[in-house]
Amino acid sequence: MPPYPSLHASHSGIWISGTDGSTQAISKGQAIGRVSETPHILLNAPLMGQRLGYPDLSGLDLLELFAFMYPARFVVPTPAGLAKTLGLKKPEEEAAVGRLYREAAWKMLNGLQADDWIEKEGAWSSAQALHRLRWPWAGELSNRLQKPDEPERWLFSKLVEWEEEAPRPAPKSVILDNAHTLEKLNILTGEGSEERLGQKNYATAVAEIFNPRRIKGAPNMLLAEAGTGIGKTLGYLAPASLWSATAGGAVWISTFTKALQRQLDRETRRIYPDEQTFRKKVVVRKGRENYLCLLNLEDALQGGFTGRAAILAHLVARWAAYSKDGDMIGGDLPGWLTTLFRRNGTTALTDRRGECVYAGCPHFRKCFIEKSSRASQQADIVIANHALVMVNAARGREKQNAPTRLIFDEGHHLFDAADSMFAARLSGQEAIEIRRWVIGPESRNRGRRRGLAARLADVASYDEEGGRAIESARHAAEALPGEAWLTRLSEREPFGPVEALLAEVRNMVFARDESQSADAGYGLETELNDVEGPLIDAVANAAEAIDALLRPLVRLGQRMEHLIEEGPDWMDAPARARMEGALSSLSWRCDTLSGWLALLSRIGGPADPDFVDWLMIDRFEGREYDIGICRHWLDPTIPVTETVTKQAHGVMVTSATLRGGGNWETARARSGAVHLEHAPMEFEVPSPFNYPEQSKVIVVTDVKRGDMPALAGAYAQLIEASGGGTLGLFTAIRRLRTVYARIADRMARSGLPIYAQHVDPIDTGTLVDIFRDDPKASLLGTDALRDGVDVPGNSLRLVVMESVPWPRPDILHRARKLAGGGSAYDDRIIRARLAQAFGRIIRRADDQGHFVILSSAFPSRLFSAFPDGTPIERMPLNDAITEIKAAKTQTVRSGLPRDISFGHESQI
Ligand code: SF4
Repeated sequence: MPPYPSLHASHSGIWISGTDGSTQAISKGQAIGRVSETPHILLNAPLMGQRLGYPDLSGLDLLELFAFMYPARFVVPTPAGLAKTLGLKKPEEEAAVGRLYREAAWKMLNGLQADDWIEKEGAWSSAQALHRLRWPWAGELSNRLQKPDEPERWLFSKLVEWEEEAPRPAPKSVILDNAHTLEKLNILTGEGSEERLGQKNYATAVAEIFNPRRIKGAPNMLLAEAGTGIGKTLGYLAPASLWSATAGGAVWISTFTKALQRQLDRETRRIYPDEQTFRKKVVVRKGRENYLCLLNLEDALQGGFTGRAAILAHLVARWAAYSKDGDMIGGDLPGWLTTLFRRNGTTALTDRRGECVYAGCPHFRKCFIEKSSRASQQADIVIANHALVMVNAARGREKQNAPTRLIFDEGHHLFDAADSMFAARLSGQEAIEIRRWVIGPESRNRGRRRGLAARLADVASYDEEGGRAIESARHAAEALPGEAWLTRLSEREPFGPVEALLAEVRNMVFARDESQSADAGYGLETELNDVEGPLIDAVANAAEAIDALLRPLVRLGQRMEHLIEEGPDWMDAPARARMEGALSSLSWRCDTLSGWLALLSRIGGPADPDFVDWLMIDRFEGREYDIGICRHWLDPTIPVTETVTKQAHGVMVTSATLRGGGNWETARARSGAVHLEHAPMEFEVPSPFNYPEQSKVIVVTDVKRGDMPALAGAYAQLIEASGGGTLGLFTAIRRLRTVYARIADRMARSGLPIYAQHVDPIDTGTLVDIFRDDPKASLLGTDALRDGVDVPGNSLRLVVMESVPWPRPDILHRARKLAGGGSAYDDRIIRARLAQAFGRIIRRADDQGHFVILSSAFPSRLFSAFPDGTPIERMPLNDAITEIKAAKTQTVRSGLPRDISFGHESQI
């Protein structure tokens, strides 16, 4: 056993397990004293530090050791999860967890000498570097790892290069016949699978979008609502893969959540069982900010990062050598890894700021982003997300690879995705990003960031006019907000015309605020009308400064286009690719600046009816984060229809709740189909689940609104009645935190652990993994959990909503409500939210569950959000508790909990 004691802290107590095998319960004060004297083995230091009330807790974290030894492998980061993955006995009681930690450390360290340790390559060199950084585990590793006979290959020489391939020919015109589509579906669902008429009808309906388009700009469009359990994914993958194989084109499948992207990645393996073919035919695409930038990593490894951030960089390098695709967010990099380092340095490892130097980068041929982009040009199925599809279309990126056959799954989110994608925001944070992009680092910034002049030095030296444009842009960018702009604004000392404008915006928002949120410390906003005096003057000055920056950037873009066309001697293929890449990020900045000017030009004049404009201050708990002017489309499906839908030949928008408990009119409006000149095809198939038998909705009538002790008490009693397995949904973070603080200890003492979004220092994906893995655990959260949680089986048997999920009555919502039919608009939104939340409970034919709303004021007209026939009853809390307890007893008698198995888990 390793010569270190271990520490385990939870809401129900703190234990130290000594090197002599003894275990002792101790107080918080004693624990803090011990860990500051001797390094202890522990699991998830930030989480344990939070339990101890000692945020600086550090030690020998088992998760860090796991990340070193088994990079890109999955583990649920809990004692039980670690025990399961390492093949150790799960501790029966919390007091035994400390001993498990020591066993886990021992098992992993012994694994360093195992012949079957597949991630051995690179470990020795990495351990040496980590030793120099004083990583707590490095000493143990160095004692056990043998220096390899041959020098180990450096990550950057090990990664495989992408190959340039000839552009793909245009797809053939084909019509899929039903017999072939159903045959393909049969192959995908497997021999002997149950007969699913709904799925078959769905698959043949989807096949129609692949028919040849009749008129340019008029795609074959299908709106399809397929109830949960239909087998929607295979239902559309069958015609999609068939069309792709017959016509030789790519089908893009776009999702909203990363969870569905992961699920699709798994399901598409059925189409291409051979791993090599699968990797060629199916490509997952995300925005570039998701991927590791190898140049940034190299910089971090060579001294760009120090302290803990440098340790993280080395663990990320270990992962990069074994990762499937270099996706850091929602890919195979464990979501918990970056939170162990308090996200210190994570963003600097991706290409968030568009500073990629393309072919000028020594790792260009191995770059994960380039690899995925090029692979998608040859793939049959591209699994993307709504944001990426829209951003590529809006910014004219990858035109030759634009999707022509598109399936929007989770289509009920299309509206919201478009809303954020096509919005404009002239704010301090946005402006400082552009300043940095032009000027480069002005302070001791981490990373290799460089300004425009350094990135385009060859343009400047070859083309005099281009060089002058770069210099003018550099000079003009100094008028944008710089470091510490928020401090200057709060001290009423703005610097430059744009900061002066933001100062006026701030004054006006505070002056006009009527929300009574000013003292609560949350975001504030005010309408952009009846503006006068100092704000108008500030707008004119800021517009002049922005225009002074836009003009040289446009000129630079023209010079670069000219250079690319002219093709001087020095411009070889890599230089051309770099120039094209730089031109694309330049035009994106120019579009942003033009959008700002359009927004400013309307201030003081008549409003544009297509847009909603307002002034805002972003705040959280009294701290200001951003200040600016916002512009959203009143109907953001207009730009999506123009840039994405009308350019395609076939589009399907599908979801289990596409009509949001309403009618087709809602689906047509929320998908943008109303903006097409022809009506879309519409298809619906209800869920095969027996909701009347499997579920029940309870409206609790005696928990008073605003009574926090009563709300917390209700949650605690319901969770106890159900024995955990509860998803608690909140509409306000503040109430979530209060309830959590009141009940977490009590629940832990009953052996029913609670986890919470916005409280636990764990990313949402990992929280869901933890919840799924432990049928006694409960999870509290907000919107992201309402829609994105797929937990079949016994781990989720009760959903408790604290109140009716009314839309936030902000300026944007008010405008859309006015345009969308008043309170009927609100009802449509709430029904859609309720339908999504309810949809979490029954994921399989044998699931059972209750949906509880703690709001006596719940209007009966919203009951139509739930599937037909679902029993709904209003009752006092005590009766609800009795009923849920009875359901639990029945479940236990009927032999549940059921097995839960997941494709991505493996034992070491
Ligand atoms: S090509 Fe760009 S994103 Fe890729 S590694 Fe190089 S700088 Fe980073």
